[in-house]
Amino acid sequence: MTCKRTTTTTDHSAGGWPLAPYDHGYPGVHRCGSILARALNGQRACQQIAVWRIRTRGRNYQRTGYYCDDDLPDDGPAAA
Ligand SMILES: [Zn+2]
Repeated sequence: MTCKRTTTTTDHSAGGWPLAPYDHGYPGVHRCGSILARALNGQRACQQIAVWRIRTRGRNYQRTGYYCDDDLPDDGPAAA
């Protein structure tokens, strides 16, 4: 029996999400998190300010992603 429960929380902040002191680029705001995905596809990195924060919490992990309006992934576990 597989128990694969994850909780996804999506928050919006019009002014962007401030970086924590240990983040590269502090002080500042998070940039769109689709940079890596675009690089893999040979596209230019997205430099927009992220207004969406998506937190995915699983059994043994927690992941936080930041995305601009254009790159907001669809809700659900299918979005990698
Ligand atoms: Zn973007």
